[in-house]
Formats: sequence, structure tokens, C-alpha cells
Amino acid sequence: MSIFHTDIAIIGAGPQALTLVTHLLQKKKKMRDRLTAGLSPGFQVFDPSGTWLANWHQQFAAQEIPHLRSPAVHHPDCNPHTLLSFAEKRQDELYAPYNRPGTKLFQDFCETVIDRWHLQDQVTKAQVVGLTPQKGRFCLTLADGRRRSPVGWFSQLAQRRLKSQTGLSISN
Ligand SMILES: Cc1cc2nc3c(=O)[nH]c(=O)nc-3n(C[C@H](O)[C@H](O)[C@H](O)COP(=O)(O)OP(=O)(O)OC[C@H]3O[C@@H](n4cnc5c(N)ncnc54)[C@H](O)[C@@H]3O)c2cc1C
Repeated sequence: MSIFHTDIAIIGAGPQALTLVTHLLQKKKKMRDRLTAGLSPGFQVFDPSGTWLANWHQQFAAQEIPHLRSPAVHHPDCNPHTLLSFAEKRQDELYAPYNRPGTKLFQDFCETVIDRWHLQDQVTKAQVVGLTPQKGRFCLTLADGRRRSPVGWFSQLAQRRLKSQTGLSISN
């Protein structure tokens, strides 16, 4: 079985993961430089879809939701005002109260965030099926049998929460 190493493993490529990655990149110049140079940035994102926000888009489309419930300052980019700037010529897609963005506006905005941070090819198409703590590291098992060994370490409490929320197999 092959084992690959990464500093930070992020399970799932939803809005929370995208937000985490943009904030990491904003704070860590070394990660930005590696990413723009086409090198491994020091994090790896896993999602069975192989793309960002697949679950989000699928759920909004399935329920035909016309606009978000959250105001326009809540989005995956670091600067809360970038969505409002992006919507400058699309004011009819901001809904009262609190400028809640339309579903298409939000989707288009997220695409610009993914492009601007060079994240198009940063989602590995894989489902994580197991987590095993190993000598200060954490070993992830992917559904295809490959393994990743990130530096990160979860507390016992975090492990219990992760297990109950995701159903992942977590061994000690
Ligand atoms: C009807 C509805 C309306 C909503 N409206 C809003 C709104 O207006 N504004 C707002 O902010 N929030 C809204 N939400 C909530 C929002 O959808 C969630 O808060 C948000 O999607 C959570 O982001 P996430 O990245 O944690 O999870 P998700 O969006 O669920 O993404 C998790 C990703 O992880 C992947 N994944 C799961 N398990 C594994 C695994 N083992 N290995 C690899 N990948 C895995 C999944 O495939 C998925 O792609 C709404 C939710 C619903 C249901």
C-alpha cells in the first residue's frame, strides 16, 4: 500500500474548506509562493467529487433555492466586502434584508475566489474512510486504499466529534 505525506489534510471541499484554505494562503506567503510555482502548497484537500463546493451546488439546485439565507459578508474569501464589490453591477441579485446574495451570484463569486487563489486543481478526488493516529502524525486511508500521513493531530474530543459527525473509522 503506498503512503504519501502532506502537512495539512483537509477532508471535504465545501465552503468551510474553501474558507480555511483562503485564510491559510493569506497568512502563509510560503504556501502562496509554492502554489503559484506549481509545487505542493503543504495542504491537500480530499473530496469524492474532485471539485470545490459540489455538495453545496447540488443541494441548492435540488431544492431550487433562489438566494442564500446569509448576508453578503459571509463567504469563503478573506475580505468580507469582496462579494459586494463583485456584485456592483448585479444589484438585482442582492436580496433584502442584509443583501443576501442570489444563488447564481454566489456561485460565480466563489469561482472567482477559486481562480484568484489558484485553487482550481487543488481538490484530490478521493473519499477518506479512515483516520489512524501514528507517532504524532495522523494517517488517512482513502477509499481506493492509498494512505496519506499529515502532521496534524486531533485531541481525543476532536476525534470523538469527527467520528460522530462523519462516521469515519478512527482507530487508536
Ligand atoms: C437548504 C439549506 C440552505 C442553506 N443556506 C445557507 C445559506 O444561505 N448560507 C450559509 O452560509 N449556509 C447555508 N446553509 C448551510 C451550508 O450548506 C453549510 O453550512 C455548509 O455547506 C457547510 O459547509 P461544509 O464545508 O462544512 O460542508 P459541505 O458543504 O457539506 O461540504 C462537505 C464536503 O465534504 C465532503 N466529504 C464528506 N465526507 C467526506 C470524506 N469522508 N472524505 C472526503 N470528503 C468528504 C462532502 O462530499 C462535501 O463535498 C444551508 C444549508 C441548507 C441545507
